[in-house]
Amino acid sequence: MHELSVAQGIVSAALSHIKGGGKVQEVHVAIGELTHINVEQLAFAFEIASKGTALEGARLETRIIEARFRCLRCGREEKSFTCSACGSAMEVLNGEELLLERLKLVEDNGDAQGDRG
Ligand SMILES: [Zn+2]
Repeated sequence: MHELSVAQGIVSAALSHIKGGGKVQEVHVAIGELTHINVEQLAFAFEIASKGTALEGARLETRIIEARFRCLRCGREEKSFTCSACGSAMEVLNGEELLLERLKLVEDNGDAQGDRG
């Protein structure tokens, strides 16, 4: 299952961002549509991958990045693998991304949070 390894990648990336501690409430990721990641399966896989970590129980928010291609010869941009103007190959500008965009931490309401700074 492709989504599980993706989810594990998101979890470890997120954990490396919150070294200082704290619990995560929301994880925002942007996913290129060319990755063919199923967001429902990803949310499920994320739940599994985050178990026992500071991310456990966090909500996974996903945003799809639309695919964009540009012609290598004439520079035309369209959503196609070959240019409709000159027939050349296209390069991928967007759509293959997998980005961890934002983490929202649970605000601690005066709870002792250990050593800070
Ligand atoms: Zn072209």
